[in-house]
Amino acid sequence: MSLIVQKFGGSSVSDAEGIKRVATRIVDTQAAGNQVVVVVSAMGDSTDELLDLAEQVTLYPEELSPEADGLVSSAREMDMLLSAGERISMALLAMAIHRRGASAQSFTGSQAGMFTDSIHGRARIIDVSPHRIRTAIEKGDVAIVAGFQGMSRDSKDITTLGRGGSDTTAVALAAALGADVCEIYTDVDGVYTADPRVVPAARKIDLISSEEMLELAASGAKILHLRCVEYARRFGVPLHVRSSFSHNEGTWVIPDPDTSITIQEGEPLEQPIISGVAHDRSEAKVTVIGVPDIPGKAAEIFNIMAGAHANIDMIVQNISTHGSGRTDISFTLPIVDGKEALAALKAAQSAVGFESIEYNEHIGKLSLIGAGMRSNPGVSARFFKALSDTGVNIDLISTSEIRISVVTAEDKLDAAVRAVHHAFDLDAGSKATVYGGTGR
Ligand code: ASP
Ligand code: MG
Repeated sequence: MSLIVQKFGGSSVSDAEGIKRVATRIVDTQAAGNQVVVVVSAMGDSTDELLDLAEQVTLYPEELSPEADGLVSSAREMDMLLSAGERISMALLAMAIHRRGASAQSFTGSQAGMFTDSIHGRARIIDVSPHRIRTAIEKGDVAIVAGFQGMSRDSKDITTLGRGGSDTTAVALAAALGADVCEIYTDVDGVYTADPRVVPAARKIDLISSEEMLELAASGAKILHLRCVEYARRFGVPLHVRSSFSHNEGTWVIPDPDTSITIQEGEPLEQPIISGVAHDRSEAKVTVIGVPDIPGKAAEIFNIMAGAHANIDMIVQNISTHGSGRTDISFTLPIVDGKEALAALKAAQSAVGFESIEYNEHIGKLSLIGAGMRSNPGVSARFFKALSDTGVNIDLISTSEIRISVVTAEDKLDAAVRAVHHAFDLDAGSKATVYGGTGR
């Protein structure tokens, strides 16, 4: 008997029909002789809708002083609010399974033993003790767990893991339960060479290493949560990313060769040079202008950013303008971290001694990823030619061993992604199927 963890994303359970379809799939998996643990996300775009509501009730009218806002942090309440989305879908899913004659029980994150630290909105898992889940599946129930949430071990408050965190819940449970596979169900047939919503000619990838998947996820591919890929790699959990709308074989994300992978006969031993193109619209660019060009200033700035919990991505320091003794430092960070980061920087302006700050949310990041880049010259040349042929101006550049990323203007991003995808011969002859979801 196998133990399978199945995770269903919001687009798979966006309405009653979706919940019924998923319930049938779960019951079939169990009837085939498996123990099944399900992790479910909130229905459709309901997490975004809850966020919109929260914003509406916290906007202050003109006559209230802005200082009244932000003095009391609502981070704890935000997690209470957002965790409700997954409670709705898990209970409905359990009912739909009952209707199909199987037994199922739903569990909140805390009931499932997901213990986290106390950082609201981006809590990290520190312990998984799924006793109740084990008991439930041993007595023949389907166990359904609310994704993306846990409980702080210190404060006992409800926490959430950050947007898209249900994938990480699923992998963490799969690791703790010693599951045979963690299936991530979504609205496309697997991991594609680019987002099929932007590049209809994108191709499905059958097999990808955790290393490349990590770079794709880190570069903005929303198909898998970055932390879920890291977790799966660490604990050697095989991931199978597939569609809940079809029975097609999806994409296998395999832990690195040195952990455990048996290459099936007929599989190519050498990987293609490029595995895909990812894009990201969720970052903003900060430029700190006129920073004194002396040792220690970058350390001061990034220490301030760390204190503001900002996840810094690309960093570029310009050469100091001749004779001025000053330089500019640009970096990108998630838009959601922008407000707090800017406030922290402004507060330290005179101490650090920089002249001003520029902030731009209308940027896009494009990344080309492939393990084969390491041993193939000419990749950068082809990449930059594709961008210049499309008239895309490049703002920042960063690279790793298996990735090249650039920042461009946001309105040029889609065209740039298509051009690069085409330039590396990744286009398929057919159009990728997007079964559902709004891509929000
Ligand atoms: N519902 C949460 C979100 O939309 C978690 C998830 O879907 O994984 O971010
Ligand atoms: Mg969601």
